Amino acid sequence: MENITTRLPCVIQRNGCNGEHLVASRPIREGELIFQEKPLVTGPLGVAFCEPKAFSTCLGCYKTIPSLYRCSKCGFPVCGLQCENMPDHANYECKIFAESPVNPVVNPSEYEKIKILRILLLKEKCPEKWKLIQSLESRESIRRQNFCAVATDIALYKFIKQECHLTEYDFDELHHVSGVSFIHSFPTNCPDVSDSPNHVSAARYASLLFYNASLLSHDCFPNTRYAIHASSGKNSSYSISVIATRNIAEGEPVTTSYVDPTLGTFERREILRERYYITCTCERCSDASEFNTFYSAIKCKNLDCHSGYLLPIFPLDSNSEWRCNKNCSEMPTSPNWIASLIQEVRSQASMSHSWETFDDMLEKYRTTVLHRNHYLVVEMQVELLKMIEKFIHQVESSQQIPLAKKMVELSRSSLAVMDVIYPGCNTFRGRLLYYLHEGLLALCLSRVNECADKTDQEIVRKSCKKHFVEALEIIREAREILLLESVGTIDWKNGTILSTESPRIKSLMAFFSFKN
Ligand SMILES: [Zn+2]
Ligand SMILES: [Zn+2]
Ligand SMILES: [Zn+2]
Ligand SMILES: [Zn+2]
Repeated sequence: MENITTRLPCVIQRNGCNGEHLVASRPIREGELIFQEKPLVTGPLGVAFCEPKAFSTCLGCYKTIPSLYRCSKCGFPVCGLQCENMPDHANYECKIFAESPVNPVVNPSEYEKIKILRILLLKEKCPEKWKLIQSLESRESIRRQNFCAVATDIALYKFIKQECHLTEYDFDELHHVSGVSFIHSFPTNCPDVSDSPNHVSAARYASLLFYNASLLSHDCFPNTRYAIHASSGKNSSYSISVIATRNIAEGEPVTTSYVDPTLGTFERREILRERYYITCTCERCSDASEFNTFYSAIKCKNLDCHSGYLLPIFPLDSNSEWRCNKNCSEMPTSPNWIASLIQEVRSQASMSHSWETFDDMLEKYRTTVLHRNHYLVVEMQVELLKMIEKFIHQVESSQQIPLAKKMVELSRSSLAVMDVIYPGCNTFRGRLLYYLHEGLLALCLSRVNECADKTDQEIVRKSCKKHFVEALEIIREAREILLLESVGTIDWKNGTILSTESPRIKSLMAFFSFKN
């Protein structure tokens, strides 16, 4: 095992509450690749997580299985002869299952068992990796008090002892491995890029456990992002790249967010508590206004109070009541009322709408119920951007203008909040920049196409040139971000087509008499 910490811009530090974690050993620049590594263990991911209809995941290549083929040795579903001989399967569970009467049932929890089995087998097969896994945090003291976690581990223990006939492991070992796997695994469905990255290729459903990436501590205002890449061939292999999204000072923890940072505090902290056994007290969670963005704020219910917003009185207490920030006469609101409001907005938004009715609904919530920066507003704005992007190029120029304006407005207002709450070269920013550039270009092109004579052209040249210049700048930044994504994904493909050499850009350059 390579000791990467001697070459990396970070070192492992230990403290009481965080366990072992990474800290910058020198200043790290925004955009710098901090490390890249291969997984300690690769396990299959049950596809029910991603595609309820799919049949099952191949234990060799991790694609969904096209046929009813079963491994000739152990009877578990794989694609075919080549996949049953893949080392991930053949050298691990296949031998155990071939000798023991394990019933080849395939559902998501079964796949999780196979991954745990692969980790346990490292004890004998690769003691170095086993030692690294032993050193990772499993939040054991909290998990031991969680009834579901203990029940799952007891079932796993029976499976290992009674079905797999592996007697050399005790319950504590299994409990630790299960905790590590549960907390630190990275599920992925990134595409197979072995054939050609530019073609639509099958997704591979795997659950990966890395060493260094497991040492990134959680922060709701993270300073890194990651991307997982898959390459296949005889030996399927994955890697993770961790990249700084902000400048990181020497001595500062190198962090990631275990939950989607685009969620509001209430929801983030709930997932962190339930899924990761973390009670987050980071700067963002501690600040009811989330850095003055009012990202979770609800309009005051008092009709006479025009500028007040409800915020939690004690942001670190999930049972805290919410109170108007203008201290009006409105009584404090229970957290349950806030939770059911969020649920109601989400369910309204999930019903299928045309873009116009969706836009009306967004406008209603943005002006009468939620703060205009609320995370559900941002969520709906992105949904609307997706809808418009799908058909904007199919309508006539004159109809494109209002749609393009809408795209520009929606992406700009989302970016303004994200600049504060989730800045840097992350996927979400890359997507918003992509939409903004699409809106700006569509606006310029439709205006140009609508010109009837030379006078019109002169007007458009004057009024639209700034949009075109902005679009060119955005293309560079968006391309840089999107090309960091997992190779073969939609985001990555969008990055590859962003170019100042495209025919659309060339024709606009000629119109604005612009030199690249
Ligand atoms: Zn396969
Ligand atoms: Zn087999
Ligand atoms: Zn937090
Ligand atoms: Zn009020």
